[in-house]
Amino acid sequence: MCPLGRRLLSGEGGWLAPAHMCCHCLLIEGKDGLILVDTGLGTADVSTPSRLGLGFNTVVRPRLLMEETALHQIRELGLDPRDVRHIVPTHLDLDHAGGLADFLQAEVHVYAKELQAALTRPSLHEKSRYIPAQWAHGPRWTPHGVDGERWMGFEAIRALPGTDEEVLLVPLVGHTRGHCGVAVRSETGWLLHCGDAYFFRGEMDVDTPECPIGLRFFQSLVQMDGASRVANQLRLRELKQQHGNEVTLFCAHDPVELARLSALANERQSRQAQFAA
Ligand SMILES: [Zn+2]
Repeated sequence: MCPLGRRLLSGEGGWLAPAHMCCHCLLIEGKDGLILVDTGLGTADVSTPSRLGLGFNTVVRPRLLMEETALHQIRELGLDPRDVRHIVPTHLDLDHAGGLADFLQAEVHVYAKELQAALTRPSLHEKSRYIPAQWAHGPRWTPHGVDGERWMGFEAIRALPGTDEEVLLVPLVGHTRGHCGVAVRSETGWLLHCGDAYFFRGEMDVDTPECPIGLRFFQSLVQMDGASRVANQLRLRELKQQHGNEVTLFCAHDPVELARLSALANERQSRQAQFAA
């Protein structure tokens, strides 16, 4: 996504230059199939951009390329998109749920409060952020409520009970009514996909949190519950401070975090390939 105002949104570069924001998705190779955390924009958004709305297209300026959709990137990895058995979205905003229809067979595990907000769109703001066309195919929704499970001091919900995969929905509401982080246990520790709980890596700086002013303004503009959003950012910084060696935090839209983590993942993959050879 390339909204204008790079200096205001990224903290560097020209005032009117386009900023660069990604949609960071996670693909998990589980024991019995693939699991996708967030789907970004999908192939139908690329072929029919008008469904995203004039406001989003004009302000956010998504670069709609087929090869950047999750569907195409999964194929690019040599995997079969039909093996995506589960999707765990952080929330259902249009830039996170666009790819749902690219994985018709997948079960979609979502926090019940988020599903309700997305399907009923009770406010004007929610009428523009949630796009019913993105779920017109009738996804296999599996709504989850909190049930007493805890993870690192947070309320948590086991998204895939009955499987070997540890994938947890961690309610971090504020950005939307049912916004969640998604915690995933990996070979090298926990990953916490924080979705849109924060937007800029500097916000998780434990000593001197910072965020470019335009991005700070944008987050307030689109929030459903400001007090909860700010409180959850504070809790995430505390989590990083106390468990930073066990948990890697990242958000959906910071391209620097994406580059850093993909470089690490690629390194690990080539080491494994060398080992296998
Ligand atoms: Zn987003």
